[in-house]
Amino acid sequence: MDARLGDVIDDFCVKCRRLTNHSVVSLMNGGAAKVRCRTCYSDHDYRNEQAPPSKKDLKKAELFNAVLSGVTPPPAPPDGVSGDGGEPKKTAKKPGKRAEA
Ligand SMILES: [Zn+2]
Repeated sequence: MDARLGDVIDDFCVKCRRLTNHSVVSLMNGGAAKVRCRTCYSDHDYRNEQAPPSKKDLKKAELFNAVLSGVTPPPAPPDGVSGDGGEPKKTAKKPGKRAEA
């Protein structure tokens, strides 16, 4: 779309917390880059009419990602206890990658 300075477009205003009319105040690549809410007159980046994620959502996403990446430690079998006949696991760390010449 070709926006022009001063064009009135819809966008989400975080101050009004809803879609409001905005004036284009800055352009980029033929589209709106910055807009000014015509209700509260605050400038902000054009968001393509998308509401930004709330802090609550961000927190939720953070927790979700933490679960996904397996932050919970795996159950470590106690040392020296022969449970199901498996080999006793050594807790020594594997040697990491070293920069050897
Ligand atoms: Zn506003």
